Amino acid sequence: MSGRTCDIAIIGGGLSGGLIALALRQQRPELTVRVIEGGPAIGGNHRWSWFSTDLSPAGEALMAPFRKTEWTHGYDVRFPGLERTLEADYRSLASPDFAATLARELAPGTLLTNRPVAQIAADRVLLESGEEITARCVIDCRGFTPSATLRGGWQVFMGRHIRTAGPHGITRPVIMDAQVDQLAPAGNGGAYRFVYVLPLGLEEVFVEDTYYADTPQLDRSALSGRIDQYCRAHGIDGEPVGFETGVLPVITGGDFAAYQAEQRIPGVAIAGGRGGFVHPLTSYTLPIAVNIALAIAEDADLPGEQLAAKLESAARQHWRRMGFYRALGRMLFHGAAAHQRYRIFGRFYGLPEPLIERFYAGGSTLFDKLRVLSGKPPIPIHRGARALLAKSPSLLAPDTKDIR
Ligand SMILES: Cc1cc2nc3c(=O)[nH]c(=O)nc-3n(C[C@H](O)[C@H](O)[C@H](O)COP(=O)(O)OP(=O)(O)OC[C@H]3O[C@@H](n4cnc5c(N)ncnc54)[C@H](O)[C@@H]3O)c2cc1C
Repeated sequence: MSGRTCDIAIIGGGLSGGLIALALRQQRPELTVRVIEGGPAIGGNHRWSWFSTDLSPAGEALMAPFRKTEWTHGYDVRFPGLERTLEADYRSLASPDFAATLARELAPGTLLTNRPVAQIAADRVLLESGEEITARCVIDCRGFTPSATLRGGWQVFMGRHIRTAGPHGITRPVIMDAQVDQLAPAGNGGAYRFVYVLPLGLEEVFVEDTYYADTPQLDRSALSGRIDQYCRAHGIDGEPVGFETGVLPVITGGDFAAYQAEQRIPGVAIAGGRGGFVHPLTSYTLPIAVNIALAIAEDADLPGEQLAAKLESAARQHWRRMGFYRALGRMLFHGAAAHQRYRIFGRFYGLPEPLIERFYAGGSTLFDKLRVLSGKPPIPIHRGARALLAKSPSLLAPDTKDIR
């Protein structure tokens, strides 16, 4: 290590930073790693979910040490005119379990919390406290930053973890229940709304109200009221024991080279949402973060500058591969009136299950893409064509509001 604090310094102890540290621990245990997190806890306050079909066997092995909830009897989707049970297994991991597993698996001293980083360079990280950490390689995992270089809309949600008074009787996850009021939420430009339900245990359930919205406005009291309403309508009665909120970008276009130039710090590798490693339409990152963590562990001997260049090139490749999903996002935001947007997902969920699995994993084939775009269109053809050419607002989010 030649006088340095560590071999690899990871800034940001969120999903991608934590997974990279775990992959390094599994494959290169002799390397010293620091995960430098500004907040009080590793992983923040999230619940990350994914389909078993999203991960390769190596990805499954990376995720194996985490305590997670697993459903092996399929999942449901509900739209006006369509109710369907699909077969794929589903998994969900909560931040406290993420943090506990990392604390157990990683070498003592790897995880540093309450250490906001002030400056980053190719071979060192300066903390706000004045402490300096030197490293052969620095990886920036500080999460997605809104940017005027990217365009799109937002996925806005609030989830509530509820302990019910008795067995709730829900047997499978409901990934999208769009049989809910689709009228535009107050103060918002309109949205596709659905509720997401995870039966975490016999007497535990997670209910999340989600919007594909034009603006990043998170109206806590409105969302909370709609969760109450949904629970009443579905006989879910109990005590809240946790909650999460999210405002995630739904990227429909932009200038990715300009985005990369904006984020770049010479010689520093960028991973996670900040690096652009997201599914532009679902806003999910977990399967991609798993793959990137495994790739970094394989390249762990590269000098920082080379790793940085390799990840930048991987991100550009990812951007090109995701073009189809960005186009679908434009159809969603520009092709239909807000209260009709559910039709696009409703039609999609009528398609063959392997196609749906590949879509979530970001691996749609050319045939899948033709299949999604052909047949009876969920929106008028002329609107769909116009939507494909439409330009969404920038994702700078100058008016991001969090209404309490
Ligand atoms: C509530 C929520 C639920 C989600 N659910 C899913 C899901 O089910 N499936 C899925 O695939 N995706 C989901 N996502 C989307 C995405 O996977 C997550 O946002 C994921 O956490 C992104 O990983 P990341 O490592 O890029 O960023 P983050 O996990 O946000 O990690 C970034 C970390 O960097 C730290 N940081 C930032 N600045 C500094 C600094 N200056 N110094 C030190 N530390 C710093 C932050 O505190 C944070 O811990 C969800 C997102 C949210 C918000």
